[in-house]
Amino acid sequence: MEFSSARGRRRAARAGGRGRYPHSLQFYLAPPAESVSLAEFESFAVDRLRLLKVVENLGVKYLKGTDDYKSKLEYELRKLKFPFKALAEDDYDARRKDHISHFILRLAYCQSEDLRRWFIQQEMDLFRYRFNELSDSLVQQFLEYVNLLYEPLTARSLPAVQSDERLQPLLNHLSHSYIGPDYSAQKNTGKISLEQIDTLSVKSYPICMRQLHKALRENHHLRHGGRMQYGLFLKGIGLTLEQALEFWKSEFIRGKIDADKFDKGYAYSIRHNYGKEGKRTDYTPFSCMKIILSNPPSQGDYHGCPFRHSDPELLKQKLQSYKISSTGISQILELVKGMHYQLACQKYFELTHDVDDIGFPLNHPNQYFVESQKLLNGGRELKKETSHPGSSQLKPTNQESINSSSATTISNSEADTELEGLDAYFAED
Ligand code: SF4
Repeated sequence: MEFSSARGRRRAARAGGRGRYPHSLQFYLAPPAESVSLAEFESFAVDRLRLLKVVENLGVKYLKGTDDYKSKLEYELRKLKFPFKALAEDDYDARRKDHISHFILRLAYCQSEDLRRWFIQQEMDLFRYRFNELSDSLVQQFLEYVNLLYEPLTARSLPAVQSDERLQPLLNHLSHSYIGPDYSAQKNTGKISLEQIDTLSVKSYPICMRQLHKALRENHHLRHGGRMQYGLFLKGIGLTLEQALEFWKSEFIRGKIDADKFDKGYAYSIRHNYGKEGKRTDYTPFSCMKIILSNPPSQGDYHGCPFRHSDPELLKQKLQSYKISSTGISQILELVKGMHYQLACQKYFELTHDVDDIGFPLNHPNQYFVESQKLLNGGRELKKETSHPGSSQLKPTNQESINSSSATTISNSEADTELEGLDAYFAED
C-alpha cells in the first residue's frame, strides 16, 4: 500500500479496481496496492475501530447469530458504509474500505499479544456473521474464490510502515484511540461546587475515579499517576482552575505537604494542567482506552482502571462494599474474565443506576459522569449551581449540552507527547 494524497492515482485504481474485489466477503492475500491519502487512512481506520467495538458490544449483549444480534450488526455495517450483504451487490467503495481498513488495523493491533487477541476475536465474530449470511451457492463461490490454500499473513509489512514518519505515530496511537466526544472543560466549567464532590463521587463517578477520590480523602495525597488521571477528570466535569487549586490544596495540607510547598510545586502543575503554564496546552481528560492500556499502576498507586488492573478478589470486595448484588458482581467478574473491561463498567453503571440497558457504548470516564447526571437529573445534564456559600469560585454557567456540541475526536499523538512532558511536573510524590 502506498500512502499519498494523489487523487488521480486513486481514481485510476478505482477505474480498474472492480475486478480486484469480485466479492463482498474477502480473504485477501496481498496488502492494498493502491495510493491512500492520509485522511482516508485515518477515517477508514477509525470507522473499522468503531465497527469492531460494536461487534464486541453486541457479542456480550446478545446471543451471537440471533435476529437482534444480526439486525443491529447489519445496521452498523450500513451506517459505516462497509459491505453488509455478502456478494449481493456491486459495492466497490465498501469493499475497498473493508480491505484497506482491515489491513491498517492489523498493523496497529499486531504490536502486542493483548491487542492481537482482541482484534482477532472481533474480526472472527464479524467474519462469522458475514459468512453465515451467505446462501449455500454463495458459500461455494466464496470458497472457490479464496481457494483456501493461503499462506499465513504475519506483521511483515510493519517494518516498512514503521519507517514512514507520517504513519508511525498514527499506528501507535490507533489502538489507544478514543473515538468519542471531546470532554474538555469549557462546555461545563463552573457547574459544580467543591461541596458536591463527595456526593457526586458516590453517585456519578465511574469506579476508577471513585477509587481515586476515596484514596485522596483518606491519604490526603495521590501519587502523580493518580493526580494526572483524577485532576483531568475533575477539570472535565467542570472544576475551574481556582476550584482545582483549592480542592487539591485543602486535601494535601491535611497530609504531609505544607501550604508553602504546595504553592511552589503542586500549584504549578495544576495550572499547567489547565494550560496556564509551559506550552499552554489545554489537556483533555483521559479516555478509557488510555487508562486501560497505558501507565499501569504499581504498589501505592490508585490510578488505572480497576476492571483491568485490580486483582479479581479485590475487585469483588470493592464491588461488595459498593453494595452491588452478588448476581451483579458475578456478571461483572465474568466480563472482566473475558477482558471486556468497558463492558464491565457499563454493567456497573446499569446496576448502580437501576437501568436495564445503558444504551450507549462507554468509552470515557467523563462520559460516564455526564450520562449518570443526565439520568439522575431526569434527562438534564449537570444542574447549574446558582449560589453556594463557601464556593466563591463559581462562574456563570454555560448550559450548552456536552454531547451535542462536542466534536468527535481521536487521541492525538501530539497531545500525548506533550502529556509525557507534563508527567515531569507531576513526578514529585
Ligand atoms: Fe474508568 Fe473506563 Fe475503567 Fe470504567 S472502563 S472504570 S470509566 S477507565
